[in-house]
Amino acid sequence: MDFKLSAEESRFAEGVRAFLDQQAQHPDAAEFMAPDRDAHSQLANSPERRAFCKRMGAQGYLGMSWPEAYGGQDIPGIFEYLLNEELALRGAPLIGKGVGCIGKTIIRHGSEDMKQRFLPLILDAEVEFALGYSEPGSGSDLASLKLKAEKDGDGWVLNGQKVWTTSANFAEWYWVAARTDPDAPKHKGISVFLIPMDHPGLTVRPIETMGHHWTNEVFFDNVRIGPEALVGELNKGWTYVCEALDFERFTFYTINPLLQKFERALDALRTTTRNGVPLADDIGVKRQVGRLGAEVETAKMLQRRVVDAAAKGQVPAVEAAMYKVFATRLGQVLTDFVLDHLGPAGLLRSDAEGAVDNGVWEHFYQTTPLDTIGGGTSEVQKNIIARRGLGLPLK
Ligand SMILES: Cc1cc2nc3c(=O)[nH]c(=O)nc-3n(C[C@H](O)[C@H](O)[C@H](O)COP(=O)(O)OP(=O)(O)OC[C@H]3O[C@@H](n4cnc5c(N)ncnc54)[C@H](O)[C@@H]3O)c2cc1C
Repeated sequence: MDFKLSAEESRFAEGVRAFLDQQAQHPDAAEFMAPDRDAHSQLANSPERRAFCKRMGAQGYLGMSWPEAYGGQDIPGIFEYLLNEELALRGAPLIGKGVGCIGKTIIRHGSEDMKQRFLPLILDAEVEFALGYSEPGSGSDLASLKLKAEKDGDGWVLNGQKVWTTSANFAEWYWVAARTDPDAPKHKGISVFLIPMDHPGLTVRPIETMGHHWTNEVFFDNVRIGPEALVGELNKGWTYVCEALDFERFTFYTINPLLQKFERALDALRTTTRNGVPLADDIGVKRQVGRLGAEVETAKMLQRRVVDAAAKGQVPAVEAAMYKVFATRLGQVLTDFVLDHLGPAGLLRSDAEGAVDNGVWEHFYQTTPLDTIGGGTSEVQKNIIARRGLGLPLK
C-alpha cells in the first residue's frame, strides 16, 4: 500500500507552505493564524480573517476543484484536502462551506442567475454562509426536520426554528433546508433555500457552548421569500444535502491537528517534572505514550484510506465514519492523558498566571467533545459502520 503524495501533490503542498510562511509575516497574522485555537478558529469572524481569505482567493486557492467555466481550475479534490491540512496546521481558516457544499451544489443544480450571483462572490471570499439544517428534535435524524415552507404566491412563507447554526451571527446568507411537502415521505418533501441573513422575520439568538464556541438558534416568523430563493428543484433538497456531504467528506477531516497535539503532548512530558524527574522518564508514562503513539498511527492510516477512496472517485462514507469516530475519541483520550499528568496547573486557562503551555490543554479539553458531535455524532458514525460497512440490519 502506497499512501505517498505524487510529485505534483507534494509540489502543491510545498507551495501552500511557502504561501503560509509569507502570511505568517503579516502584521495581523496572530488574528488569522493561531495553532493554539485549532480547528475552531474557522468559527470566528474578523476583518483580518476575511482579508486572509481574500488573499487565498487571489492566490487561486478557492474553488480549485470547480469547473473552469465557473472560475475554477478543474483539478481533483485532493488538492483542496491538502490545502486544508496545511491551513489546519497553522490554525488558519479552512476553505469551507462556500467553496465546498454550497458552491458545488449551486454549480450542479442552481439556476443560471444563482450561479452568476454567488459563484464570483465565493471565489473572491466576499461572502460568508451559515448552514441551517439542525432543529430542536432533528439532528441525527435530519430528514425529520419541520421548518415549514408554505406556498405564498410564486414564493414561500417560512415558519419554525433552527438550532446550532454556526456563523449565523456574522454570515450574510443562510442555506436552509425546509419542509415544502408535509404529505410526502420525509426524505422527499424537503427543499433548500438561500436567504439573506438579515431578511425580515429572521431572528438570530446566540448560544455560548464549551470552549468559547458560539453557535446560534434561528427563528423564522413569517419569512417571505421569492422563487429565486429556491436552490435547484422543489422537494429535491434531501438529495442535495446528502450529495454535498459526500463532496465534503474528505476535505473536512484533517489529521494534522491531531498529529500536532500528539507532538505537543510529547513536549509537555519532556518539559514537565514530577519530584524533580521529567514525566517522560517515568516508565508508566512511557507505556501509556507508546499505546497512544500506536493509536495516532492507526488514525493516520484510517484517514489515508478516506483520502485514497475519494481520490479514486469512490464515496468514502464508511472510511470517513471509521476515521471520524476513532480520531475524535483519540483527541479526547490524548487530552485527558496529558491533563492527568500535568496536575492542577494544566487546568488553568491561557489568561491565568501559571497556566501550562499557554492553557492549550484546558482549551482542548473543552473543544474536543465538539468534534464528536458536529458533522454527525459518534453513535451515528458507528451506525454507518455497522450498517453500511459490516452489513448489519437497520434496526
Ligand atoms: C461544533 C458544532 C457545530 C455545528 N454546526 C452546525 C451548523 O452549522 N448547522 C447545523 O445545522 N447544525 C450544526 N451542528 C449540529 C449538529 O449537526 C448536531 O448537533 C448533530 O447532528 C447531532 O444532533 P442533535 O444535537 O440534535 O442530537 P440528537 O440527534 O438528538 O442526538 C442526541 C444523542 O442521541 C444519540 N443518537 C441519536 N440518534 C441515534 C441513533 N439512531 N443511534 C444511536 N444513537 C443516536 C446521538 O449520538 C447523541 O448522543 C453543529 C454541532 C456542533 C457540535
